[in-house]
Amino acid sequence: MKLKKDDTVLITSGKDRGRKGKVLEAFPKESRILVEGMNLRKKHQKPRKTGEKGQIIEMSVPVHISDVKLICPKCGKATRIKYKITEGKKYRICKKCGQEI
Ligand SMILES: [Zn+2]
Repeated sequence: MKLKKDDTVLITSGKDRGRKGKVLEAFPKESRILVEGMNLRKKHQKPRKTGEKGQIIEMSVPVHISDVKLICPKCGKATRIKYKITEGKKYRICKKCGQEI
């Protein structure tokens, strides 16, 4: 799982293709991430109190990481990541500009 919370990603497939958003949550087990404002699904919400109307709300559902690309905060390009391990620490390196991200 190369993506994590607070990364900015570019959506590369589906109806949000070409849009950018921030990762709100990562789900490594499912290889999915929740991206702010992306992949919205309508959901019917039942009234919680009597007298309240049920409503349709839009919620983001997680997207598969194969449908996004990371935007490098250093060079601003959609990029892939490689890892560098130095003294037991793992760093993410942008393949486009070679900087640590
Ligand atoms: Zn870069």
